[in-house]
Parts: sequence; structure tokens; C-alpha cells
Amino acid sequence: MNNTTTIFDKILSKEIPAEIVFENDTVLAFKDINPQAPIHVLFIPKIRINTINEIKDSQSELVGQLFLAARDYAKELSVAEEGYRVVMNCNEHGQQTVFHIHLHFLAGRQMNWPPG
Ligand code: 5GP
Repeated sequence: MNNTTTIFDKILSKEIPAEIVFENDTVLAFKDINPQAPIHVLFIPKIRINTINEIKDSQSELVGQLFLAARDYAKELSVAEEGYRVVMNCNEHGQQTVFHIHLHFLAGRQMNWPPG
């Protein structure tokens, strides 16, 4: 995977707008432009990592922070108990379309399993 910029770099630099719901030093979260559930937010690291395959061992804490931010967001929205789904797609078979890792946070409806 090459290191070209993605649309998420433009969201991070505020070049293009997004509905930001959470931000700290290392993580940004914003509403997905094409929501697949009543609540669909993307949690991204502020540094670009193209796919799960490129995550370095030293970045485990950063990746963990995506989950912690999602956990806190679920509590904030009062959906923690009813439940939600977090998903990270990888490459073609995973149907990844933006090559900057992101945790999809989906909530507000019953999810199905297995996914299509
Ligand atoms: P992937 O398919 O890579 O797992 O997920 C990429 C997600 O980014 C998709 O759900 C898509 O709707 C979302 N997305 C793509 N472009 C934009 C954009 O410009 N703004 C926002 N907010 N979401 C985007």
C-alpha cells in the first residue's frame, strides 16, 4: 500500500468539513457521510496508517485509543447497554475504501450477523 493522502487527511486538516463528535490529541471521530445505521461514526488516528496490515507493534496503544474513544462515545450516547458494533475493514475483501484506518461505530438499530 502506498502512502498517498486520503480524504481523511483533508478532514483532519479541516480542509473539508465533517461533523466532528470527538477529538483529542491522537484521535478524531466524525459522522460517516453515508450512514449505515442511525448512529454511524468513524474513529480515526490523527496519523495515517493505511490499513491494519501496516499497524506497527509500537502503535498498539494508539489503536487501543480508538476503542476507548468508541467505548466512551457509547456511554455518552447511552447505547452502551443496548449495544453497538465496531468494525475495521481491511483491503479488498474487507471492502476498505479509504486507506487510513478507521473504526466504524454503528448503533441505534439491531445489527445482523453474519455480515453480507
Ligand atoms: P471503509 O469502506 O474504508 O471501511 O469506510 C470508509 C467510510 O468513509 C465509508 O463508510 C464512507 O461513507 C466514509 N466516507 C468516505 N468519504 C467521506 C467523507 O468525505 N466524509 C465522511 N464524513 N465520511 C466519508
